[in-house]
Amino acid sequence: MAIETVGVVGAGHMGSGIACALALAGFHVTLMDVDAQALVCAAESVAAQIDEMIARGDVEPAEKTAAMARLASTTNLRDVGSRDLIIEAASEIEAVKHRIFVDLTPYLSPDAILTSNTSSFSVTRMAGVTDRPEQFMGLHFMNPAPSMPLVELIRGIATSKETFDAVDAVIKRLGKTAVVVEDYPGFTVHRILIPMINEAVYALYEGVGSVLDIDNSMRFGANHPMGPLELADFIGLDTCLSIMTSLRNGLADSKYRPCPLLVKYVEAGWLGRKTGRGFYDYRGETPVPSR
Ligand code: NAD
Repeated sequence: MAIETVGVVGAGHMGSGIACALALAGFHVTLMDVDAQALVCAAESVAAQIDEMIARGDVEPAEKTAAMARLASTTNLRDVGSRDLIIEAASEIEAVKHRIFVDLTPYLSPDAILTSNTSSFSVTRMAGVTDRPEQFMGLHFMNPAPSMPLVELIRGIATSKETFDAVDAVIKRLGKTAVVVEDYPGFTVHRILIPMINEAVYALYEGVGSVLDIDNSMRFGANHPMGPLELADFIGLDTCLSIMTSLRNGLADSKYRPCPLLVKYVEAGWLGRKTGRGFYDYRGETPVPSR
């Protein structure tokens, strides 16, 4: 089945980036969010991301006009029902994702393929709440979605070869590299990355080093482009905590226990860049450690 139209549910950081990549590649995209303000921000974010690509010489100005014309937005789930492919990119709360798929089901065309951008929840469990587990799989973009080359393709236990091939063709058309991973918590990238971030938060919690010393250790000692605490703020501390909790619950191993300091930051609403404060405070001219 050739996919031409895509519904992206959740217009936050990832949803807007995924919509941007798809619209630039020629897909007709409908972006849905329960929060109308998120849709306004998403449209601004897509325009800004394309402007950056134009400035780098990666995209022609005319492509921006065409891509923006292929992008629609809505607060009504019914409006994405007729799309060939659905990419769910709502908040990393399993009950929210399950509700979206249940509510969407009556509006879907029989051939529609469902995917989730979840970072950590079971694809097989999500597929189980739909009427089409064989037309369901995980499609995990990296952050920022327009520029990061990797996408994890996750087969649920029932995912059909036709579904997998159709989604794989979309990723090829985006010019991205796919890796195929099994449906286990965190898949591969987050299984490795998020425990490293959690360990950096433990190092801060135990007073091993300051925010800057921990980040500089990994930037200059391990050649990482961002320190782990800076990266946590970029990902969103709520998302990091949710992934750690899924790893602990799904793998039943205490080595994945979330650091209490990470929990405290999330409880404070210090979620990183998106709320203006996390391990760093972004409200001034340049980010400074928040404590
Ligand atoms: P975000 O907080 O920036 O955005 C989530 C959006 O979902 C919000 O705009 C919210 O209004 C919307 N939403 C909540 N409930 C909804 C509903 N019922 N229907 C429609 N929209 C709803 O989060 P994000 O960072 O964009 O993450 C989204 C998904 O992508 C999560 O599953 C996350 O694990 C995954 N992901 C995140 C990253 C990352 O680095 N942030 C990377 C890869 C994957």
